[in-house]
Amino acid sequence: MGNHKETYPLIRHLGLLLFLAGFGLFIGIFFLSDYRLTEEALQEAFSYKEEVAPMAVSQTLPDDTRPATPPPLYWLMVKEAEPMMGETYNWNFSFVDRLNDLFERTNERVLAIYGLSDDEIEKIIEVSRLETNLEYNTTLALAQLEGEGQLLEERQQLLRDYTGWMEGRTYETSEALEQELRSTLEGLEMGITEGEGISSYSAKGYLTSLVKYSTIGWIANYTWLFFWLAFGLSTAGALMYILPGLGTVAGIKHNNIFFSSLKNRGWLGVLLGTFLILFYIILYFYPYYMTNWILLVEPFCYWMTGNPASEFFLYGFLYTLAVLVMGVRMLIKYRHSNYHKIRTASLMFFQLAFAFIIPEILVALNKPYFDFKNIWPLNYDFFFDYRLDEFLANGTLGLFMLGWGIALIIIAVPLFTYLYGKRWYCSWVCGCGALAENLGDPFRQLSNKSVEAWNVERALVHSVLVFAVGMTIAVLYTYFTASSEFLGISTYTLREIYGFAIGAVFAGVVGTGFYPLMGNRVWCRYGCPLAAYIGIIQRFRSRFRITTNGGQCISCGNCSTYCEMGIDVRWYAQRGQNVVRASCVGCGICASVCPRGVLKLENKDPKGRFGNPILIGNEHVSVIE
Ligand code: SF4
Ligand code: SF4
Repeated sequence: MGNHKETYPLIRHLGLLLFLAGFGLFIGIFFLSDYRLTEEALQEAFSYKEEVAPMAVSQTLPDDTRPATPPPLYWLMVKEAEPMMGETYNWNFSFVDRLNDLFERTNERVLAIYGLSDDEIEKIIEVSRLETNLEYNTTLALAQLEGEGQLLEERQQLLRDYTGWMEGRTYETSEALEQELRSTLEGLEMGITEGEGISSYSAKGYLTSLVKYSTIGWIANYTWLFFWLAFGLSTAGALMYILPGLGTVAGIKHNNIFFSSLKNRGWLGVLLGTFLILFYIILYFYPYYMTNWILLVEPFCYWMTGNPASEFFLYGFLYTLAVLVMGVRMLIKYRHSNYHKIRTASLMFFQLAFAFIIPEILVALNKPYFDFKNIWPLNYDFFFDYRLDEFLANGTLGLFMLGWGIALIIIAVPLFTYLYGKRWYCSWVCGCGALAENLGDPFRQLSNKSVEAWNVERALVHSVLVFAVGMTIAVLYTYFTASSEFLGISTYTLREIYGFAIGAVFAGVVGTGFYPLMGNRVWCRYGCPLAAYIGIIQRFRSRFRITTNGGQCISCGNCSTYCEMGIDVRWYAQRGQNVVRASCVGCGICASVCPRGVLKLENKDPKGRFGNPILIGNEHVSVIE
């Protein structure tokens, strides 16, 4: 028995070495492939969107005619890709550049097939000038379109949709008609690219799949081997580093924590933060650069779900692995406390079963992806049209999911928060909480305890809640009225802003990337709309409070230091006042690190939960009434 660092040093050093080897290999894998585009890769990448027939690729489409039936997008792309087929690229950045050019050329080809040629535009103007005295007539315009069959019908429909509003309008000159027509057709061209070509929305997915299926070299050939080397070595190494902690005396040890480069914003902390921030930026905005990592979990994903892996499967896998491995560390570090042992086990269970295994099994069974513990507004797209349609299209199971989600919001959250405070969710169930508590534990002391930070926290977290509620009301309004705007605002714009600024940047890049710089609960504290909602209930209508035995407090400040939510617990303890704060997630660490047993997490009658400050006088302890 002895100091943590003195126990089994050889095993710990070996573990660290193995972890670094596995992690280093994982980083190296990012760069370790060549790329070659093939017809098969195009087919694989596009098959999830289109029913494609391989034989169609060998057919030719003369450049100057329009086919009778719309050609599959991948087919057009194969034609445009011919010059780069068979070329090998050693660098995914240059390969992605070439693919972007390919997408651009394919979209031009799509426009040439579905759009209007200059000749057709001239004919429309001419016929309007000669036959209707410059009055735009849709029927005459439609008759000027060339082609035959299904494609002609599609083109006519597009022209009708986009120029219908000009019907019956008379123009003073043919130039004025041409100007109006051409500017209207710009919208039509955008619509064609978005609908028939590679839209800005779908380009990311296509790029990611194409790069993944074009990968050649070691990772593609020995995927399982690299999977085990990267994840097996780092997991085994981490456990070898963590498990010797069992040989030490139980109880929390924070020795030298502020001298640690990793745990006190030294160069190691900055390096780790930079890595996490870059990881999230690539994950959300440039997933086509991390295809080697996605490929690494591809066989595992096929084994588990029968489907190819996406960047989000990779993310779910890494996330769960981090929660589990660092959960073992938590179980050992806090093993003197049943509260922490059960709480950590609960977080590990909910992440593994509810956030990872069950949703992936549902997808494998062709059911909607659903995390049964993810509650709106944290789960901000729960009421989006495509989700509601998905629920309604999935019979009893879909309706159960919808009902379950609503019951969580209006029954479970108020009821459990009343009974147990915010902790029932934030520190026992939530996936963000699981990562923050387990992976983020070494950084909890970095949270800002100032009053200014508290003010920023309240303003930010409640603004996000208001935004999320407003957006959801707008989206529901458009869903039931079939309009695309609410009070003149496009709900798509609202969704895009929220998804980008809150869903990706705040929750991901900042929320986790800044663990080693701002502490482990950045997202929960400043951004999570569900935490704001639960916090309001906890503050005003709950049985939960942290009671303080003020007379015992020696003002050491441990509680404040290790409060991940930046609450200055000592301030309350010194006054003997109960801690009743909206932001407290009930992790219980403040109570565990207190050397004097001053703090106690309690659920009692809400009456008198704020308690009364106790003053320590010269002769006696008195309670201020
Ligand atoms: S006050 Fe205590 S229980 Fe609440 S969040 Fe801070 S450390 Fe956790
Ligand atoms: S950790 Fe305990 S003794 Fe130290 S300041 Fe907080 S309440 Fe007081």
